[in-house]
Amino acid sequence: MTIDRLVQRLQTGLGADKVLTDRQELRTYECDGLAHYKVTPAVVVLPRTTEQVAFVVRACVEADVPFVARGSGTGLSGGALPHADGVLVVTSQMRDILEVDTADQRAVVQPGVINLHVTRAAAPEGYYYAPDPSSQQVCSIGGNVAENSGGAHCLKYGFTTNHVTGVEVVAPDGTVVRLGGRAPDPPGYDLLGAFIGSEGTLGIATEVTVRLMRAPESVRTLLAAFPSTDEAGGAVSAVIGAGVLPAAIEMMDALAIEAAEAAVHCDYPAGAGAVLIVELDGARADVDAQFSEVERHCRDNGATEIRIAADDAERALFWKGRKSAFAAVGRISPDYIVQDGVIPRTALPEVLRRIADLSSGGVRVANVFHAGDGNLHPLVLFDDAVPGQAEEAEIVSGAILDLCIEHGGSITGEHGVGMDKSKYMPRMYTEDDLDTMQMLRCAFDPHHLSNPGKVFPTPRLCGEVPGWHKGPHPLQAAGLAEVF
Ligand SMILES: Cc1cc2nc3c(=O)[nH]c(=O)nc-3n(C[C@H](O)[C@H](O)[C@H](O)COP(=O)(O)OP(=O)(O)OC[C@H]3O[C@@H](n4cnc5c(N)ncnc54)[C@H](O)[C@@H]3O)c2cc1C
Repeated sequence: MTIDRLVQRLQTGLGADKVLTDRQELRTYECDGLAHYKVTPAVVVLPRTTEQVAFVVRACVEADVPFVARGSGTGLSGGALPHADGVLVVTSQMRDILEVDTADQRAVVQPGVINLHVTRAAAPEGYYYAPDPSSQQVCSIGGNVAENSGGAHCLKYGFTTNHVTGVEVVAPDGTVVRLGGRAPDPPGYDLLGAFIGSEGTLGIATEVTVRLMRAPESVRTLLAAFPSTDEAGGAVSAVIGAGVLPAAIEMMDALAIEAAEAAVHCDYPAGAGAVLIVELDGARADVDAQFSEVERHCRDNGATEIRIAADDAERALFWKGRKSAFAAVGRISPDYIVQDGVIPRTALPEVLRRIADLSSGGVRVANVFHAGDGNLHPLVLFDDAVPGQAEEAEIVSGAILDLCIEHGGSITGEHGVGMDKSKYMPRMYTEDDLDTMQMLRCAFDPHHLSNPGKVFPTPRLCGEVPGWHKGPHPLQAAGLAEVF
């Protein structure tokens, strides 16, 4: 079937207003938050219901046309980058909160619902949705599920995977399946776990059941300034080593502070080489006791100034600098790459020193990160107008990921692999590892139509013997898996 016939079919099934083919309109969707990759999709569809998504996917399968899911397009790894000959399935009209059940501590939502809107819906009854990416005012729950997104408060509460108990999915053959449900921990293979973080390669989530948490009785936040990231890192280790588990510990280095000051005037202590934002939440008595302990560890590790938020307004100001940090670096550098890697927390001082060594020369690196769980967000600053700097920035960016791997970490903490990092996957995984992952993917998507070209460096067709080797994969040889 040609793409024109597919468009006709989609228009008949969905209504013409839900199918975009005008080039100017299509260009609105040509990239996600990683704007240096751009592809104009052949068609964009805006379904409202699960049935409509299933109809679109079935039509794509029959036409042998690839499809890519897109939520709000805030992803930072090119995951929602369209396919030039494919259909982009945008969930922005699937924004109903179907149920808020505080007795069961669950909410059921459509995938296009904005992260923060779940909390807004549950707040009147004293509940909230814990995973809080800095993009939470705009990113969608479907995108969060696909990326297994994190956020500042995931140190204590865990990532999206810890807060989603069930999904309804349009599988890549167009059938509608349910993985998980309202109850935790169903028997059998953890297919829900496989789906969360699969970056749109295993189908399209059309309904998501999330866990709601009771809002804490007390929240207290401090901002501590240190001479450098060494002392700040020491304070982080001391706090966690003492058995205190803050809701969040965020760190920014001098360059990141400079950028945040220029952008949002957050009034952090002048001359600080690093700041920590530490937030505790829970029962008032516990929070108060632990808060004193955190202050003491900050002082013992060389804090030059500690500010305690007196009210919600001051707390918001502490967070404003941190939450605006990515965009803020635009104030001090014409171009930048937002990197995302993770390392064991104890490796922080060593890795930060080595990143500082890498950043000598024309390319500088500002560091903003979820220090409590070792999730780094180095911002590699460069000027595209200076010949060779973009290439140098790319090299520094890759070298940072090598450092993460060398220290037992990973090439992505929370932004996903997408298009951008697929080339780094072989640095972290062996051919056999990658082939094994492909087998899982092929089990869900034998026609390789669901977000092809993402996550894996060398897409292979399902049905091919995976890998360079001529013999069977070790799992096949052991009788543990078969090629579909
Ligand atoms: C300023 C800024 C701050 C950020 N801060 C954080 C942060 O603190 N933590 C964090 O983890 N991330 C952060 N991000 C990254 C981004 O917001 C998250 O990855 C988010 O989950 C993406 O959601 P989205 O709706 O924009 O998804 P999109 O960008 O539209 O899509 C992301 C991926 O999900 C897939 N997808 C989308 N919807 C579905 C669906 N219904 N079913 C199946 N697959 C689907 C897409 O195919 C794509 O692979 C930040 C981004 C920005 C721009």
